[in-house]
Amino acid sequence: MFELPEWTFEFHGHRCPFMPIGYRMGTIALRLLGVEKSKDHQMHVFSEMGIGHPQGCMQDGIMSATGATFQRND
Ligand SMILES: [Zn+2]
Repeated sequence: MFELPEWTFEFHGHRCPFMPIGYRMGTIALRLLGVEKSKDHQMHVFSEMGIGHPQGCMQDGIMSATGATFQRND
């Protein structure tokens, strides 16, 4: 069963179907790569989703799952 932490909705700011999809994408990527969630910006994620509201929601889900932050280079 896929469980989505409640804090991810608080982080995201609203409830929608796309953020959970992104969170799931992120957790699957971590599992397939055999790595854990980034705790201090060690991870870089390149997602090619284009622009638009649903894509931004999925990006928030990926950030929540992986610990990577959007457009940060530090
Ligand atoms: Zn959303």
